[in-house]
Amino acid sequence: MYRTHNCGELRMQHVGQEVKLSGWVQTSRDFGGMTFLDLRDRYGITQLVFNMEDDAALCEKARKLGREFVISATGLVRERSAKNPNRPTGDIEIQVTKLDVLNASKVPPFTIEDDTDGGDDLRMKYRYLDLRRTPVQKNVIFRSQVGIETRKYLAGEGFLEIETPNLIKSTPEGARDFVVPSRLNPGQFYALPQSPQTFKQILMVAGMDKYFQIVKCFRDEDLRADRQPEFTQIDCEMAFVTREDILNTFEGLTKHLFKTVLGTELPDFPRMSYDEAMTRYGSDKPDTRFGMEFCELNDVAQGKGFGVFDSAELVVGICAAGQADNYSNKDLNELTEWMKRPQIGAKGLVWVKVNADGTFKSTVGKFYSDEDLNVWVKKFNASPGDLLLILSGEAEKTRKQLNELRLEMGRRMGLMKPGEFKPLWVVNFPLLEWDEDSQRFFAMHHPFTSPLPEDAEKMMSGDHETLKNLRANAYDLVINGVEIGGGSIRIHDRALQEKNFKLLGFTQEQAENQFGFLLGAFEYGAPPHGGIAFGFDRLCAVMRGQTSIRDFIAFPKNNMGRDMMIDAPSAIDDVQLNELFLKVQTEKIKM
Ligand code: ASP
Repeated sequence: MYRTHNCGELRMQHVGQEVKLSGWVQTSRDFGGMTFLDLRDRYGITQLVFNMEDDAALCEKARKLGREFVISATGLVRERSAKNPNRPTGDIEIQVTKLDVLNASKVPPFTIEDDTDGGDDLRMKYRYLDLRRTPVQKNVIFRSQVGIETRKYLAGEGFLEIETPNLIKSTPEGARDFVVPSRLNPGQFYALPQSPQTFKQILMVAGMDKYFQIVKCFRDEDLRADRQPEFTQIDCEMAFVTREDILNTFEGLTKHLFKTVLGTELPDFPRMSYDEAMTRYGSDKPDTRFGMEFCELNDVAQGKGFGVFDSAELVVGICAAGQADNYSNKDLNELTEWMKRPQIGAKGLVWVKVNADGTFKSTVGKFYSDEDLNVWVKKFNASPGDLLLILSGEAEKTRKQLNELRLEMGRRMGLMKPGEFKPLWVVNFPLLEWDEDSQRFFAMHHPFTSPLPEDAEKMMSGDHETLKNLRANAYDLVINGVEIGGGSIRIHDRALQEKNFKLLGFTQEQAENQFGFLLGAFEYGAPPHGGIAFGFDRLCAVMRGQTSIRDFIAFPKNNMGRDMMIDAPSAIDDVQLNELFLKVQTEKIKM
């Protein structure tokens, strides 16, 4: 009725056939005797031709069509005299004999082409128009493919897809909950899941053995760039597994996705301990597309009279290969200022240029002889023409700052190559993080994560220092410096889980209140189990070499957590408030 073909499929072999296409008018070009229209649908664009000489009335009708009108056109496929090699259908065009206007369109508020003139908020308000643009549409299609391949792979591995509820009770993953008032239970609230963590563990207790779900998660976090209050995880859990089983299964999934959707073969993923990642890169999600690894200088830079280094817990630097000549004093001052911005907070930056003739130029020449600096050069494995950039201070902070500098230099030097993928597993994270301000421990992953088997004993009886150094049986998948997923082997023993809650500052009563159901389940034959969750939006973005997850979500929220299209969140009327027993509370807020 509407079409014999789509707008992306006609080729030379169809020349001479009568076809019918339907779609949206992308552009129209009028050359007096002839009118050309580009007709677009999800599959592509096909050129339509109307000829004054053949049918003046039809040509007139075509000229009146505006952008984004929806039409059907019947006609003959013919070879184009001026071919368009950039378009798969560029060899042919349709000589139209019949035209139906299916729907008119107002003039769209921005151009619906690859490069648009629409700003972010405008495009979000008219998301249905933005989604018609090829780059956005490609991302959504890509995401669909990744989802379908995920299901295929995991089903092939014997996983069951099981849904878990959205109206639940708080699960601590370190963020605030979104809450939903319960009309039937006045004054009580559901929480939206930050993840299905406890449910998937319960499914293991229930004997489901291998679970997955592509699932929405909700976290009411302060909005940083590229955070979405609702996002999607590929969430998984397995029973009777060790860490190796999980890493192998999900390395397999990742390789499958890259292979089937991108045609890219990934090599085996290296493993790196958290401690090693921090020492070599100052980050638990190192971008290993390039080297520029940290080089510690305490033993060679201290004790030479340079007070800043002498008093520092850590002196550490990176070697920017071949950059000595690319950075003038002014550039280096600018780089130093960049490092001193509050976002990074470095106190200063020491630099050394290794000149081609073996001499040096540096900010610390007063304190270090050429002989001293030659020792540094050896440590860095540096060559003439290289630029050494060095920071010092408290170890943890300094590493974080140098990580920022390394990434910035990597960007500037073009070392983050598009199309190159460097995955790795980071393992053995700390179990607990001590927070000085609140004087308490937080779970680095979440409270259900088990310690490494060899650390379990220490967890039950260790002193403060021992507890700080406990390692978790937790792991992250990192690709190109982006955390794609994380998980852990869980605690499946009630006593150990209770101990962990206690270390995290829960009273017995609080633990029982919030997690009694899980602790209870652990008393009925909980198998050893573990799992992982991938950030689905982020995985898609990284696979396509993009940075914004928003571009992979059909209906994303803006930086204020607003859906611009439906205008949410919004006020609700008094009747609704009353029903939910909320009226009094919101009035209080207004005052
Ligand atoms: N629930 C965890 C998360 O959302 C993932 C996991 O431990 O499986 O990060």
